[in-house]
Amino acid sequence: MRIAQLLKSTDYGTKVTVKGWVRTKRGNKNVAFLALNDGSCVANIQIVADLAKISEEELKPVTTGACVAVEGTLVESLGAGQGVEVQAESIEVYGTADPATYPLQKKGHSLEFLREIAYLRPRTNTFGAILRIRHAMAYAIHKYFNDKGFYYLHTPLITASDCEGAGEMFQVTAMDLNNLPRTEEGAIDFAQDFFGKPCSLTVSGQLEGELGALSMGQIYTFGPTFRAENSNTPRHLAEFWMIEPEVAFFDLQDNMDMAEDFLKYLIRYALDNCKEDLEFMNKMWDNELLERLNFVLANDFVRLDYTEGIEILKASGKKFEFPCNWGCDLQSEHERYLVEEHFKKPVILINYPKDIKAFYMKQNEDGKTVRAMDVLFPKIGEIIGGSEREADYGKLSARIKELSIPEKDMWWYLDTRRWGSAPHSGFGLGFERLLLFVTGMSNIRDVIPFPRTPKNAEF
Ligand code: ATP
Ligand code: MN
Repeated sequence: MRIAQLLKSTDYGTKVTVKGWVRTKRGNKNVAFLALNDGSCVANIQIVADLAKISEEELKPVTTGACVAVEGTLVESLGAGQGVEVQAESIEVYGTADPATYPLQKKGHSLEFLREIAYLRPRTNTFGAILRIRHAMAYAIHKYFNDKGFYYLHTPLITASDCEGAGEMFQVTAMDLNNLPRTEEGAIDFAQDFFGKPCSLTVSGQLEGELGALSMGQIYTFGPTFRAENSNTPRHLAEFWMIEPEVAFFDLQDNMDMAEDFLKYLIRYALDNCKEDLEFMNKMWDNELLERLNFVLANDFVRLDYTEGIEILKASGKKFEFPCNWGCDLQSEHERYLVEEHFKKPVILINYPKDIKAFYMKQNEDGKTVRAMDVLFPKIGEIIGGSEREADYGKLSARIKELSIPEKDMWWYLDTRRWGSAPHSGFGLGFERLLLFVTGMSNIRDVIPFPRTPKNAEF
C-alpha cells in the first residue's frame, strides 16, 4: 500500500508492508523512529523500531536516503499531527545511501543546488509536491478537453516550417557535421540529408493543429516544443510543453472565453485535488499562493486593446527598463505592471500591431493590427498567446509574400484556405508557465523534471 493511503487508514492492528526512502532517523538506545516517504504525498509515515525486536546492527544501514521495506503493524499514533504509525517487525534494506556521499541530508537545500542534482531532487518534499501537481494538471488538461468533445491531435515534432517565423529553431540532421555534402555552388546539400531538406524541431504544433480544426472541428495538442532562444530568464526553457486548442467557427471573443474558462478550470482542479501539496508550497515558498489562486478564480479577466494598454503604460509615470511606445512588443515588466499594479487582475490584451505578431493572425480592418490575444497573469506576465486565424486565402498569401516566408514550405497550409476555409481560433498555453503560477515557484527550471536551457542539457 502507498503511504498516502496508509496515512488515511484507521485499520489499527492490521499487518502492513511499507516501502520507501528514509527521510530521517532519530531515537535513543531503546527505540528508533524513521520517517519514510514513498513519493505518494508530502507527509512521511513514522516507523517505530523497538531495539528489542530489531537489532542496532540491522538498523545501521538504515540511514537518510536508504530504500527499505518495512513489515509491521499499523497503530494509532500518539504523536501530534499524525494519525497512524507502523510498529516495525522487520526491516529489509533494498539500497543503502552512504551518509558520507548522499547529497540530500536533512538540512534544507537551495533551489540552485537542487538544480545541480536534478536527478535526485524528486526525493525532496518540494519537488515531490511540484511533480504531483504537474501530473494533476496534465490530467486535468486532458479531462477538460475530453469532457468538451475535443480530440487530442498528435502534431509532428520534426518539421520543415517555422511556425512563429522567429528563426529560433533547433536544426535536425543526420548528416556528418564534420563532412557535410556540398552542392556544386558550395552550399550544404540538404538533398542528401535524411529528409531531403532542412528540418527542425517544432516551435509550435499550431499549423498542423489548424488542419485538425478545419476537419474535426475542435482539437488540442499537448506536447513538447523547442525554442533556441538564447534568453536566460526565469520564464524561458529551450524545451517546454505547450497546450494548443484550435477551434473551427470560433472568433476572438470565443477564444478569450475559452482561455479564461480553461485557466479557471485548471486552477479550480488544483485547489480541489492537490490541497496538501498546495498548502505545503504556500507554507514553504509563497505565502500568497493560495490567496492568488482563489483571487484569479473570483475575478473576471480584464479585456483590453493593446492600444489602450500602451496609453495606460505611458500615463503611468513609471520608469521601465525598456520604454514602450505603440508598436513595441511588451516586456514582462509592462505586462506585470498592467496586471499587478494597474488592474490588479489578469488581463487579456488584444488587437496587437501586426508587425510584432506572427503571419497567420487575422488582420483587422484598420490595416495595422491583428486579432491577437495574450493572457497576462500576476507574477508570470504572458501565460497564453493566441489569436483568431486569417481565414482568407488572398490576405494570408499576401502576408506570407510580404514577410518573404518561402511558399514552398507553406503551400499545404495555404491550401486549407483554398478549399473549405472557415473562421477559426486557438491559443498556446505554456505548460510550465501554468505550473509556475499554480505552484508559486519563481524559476521555470523548477517546475519541469529536467530543464533544458542554454548551456544545460544535463541528465
Ligand atoms: P514570450 O514573449 O514570453 O517569449 P512568446 O510570445 O514567444 O512568449 P508564444 O509564441 O505566443 O510565446 O507561445 C505561446 C506560449 O508558450 C506563451 O504564452 C508561453 O506561455 C509559452 N512559452 C513561449 N516561449 C516559452 C519558453 N521559451 N519557455 C516556456 N514557455 C514558453
Ligand atoms: Mn518567446
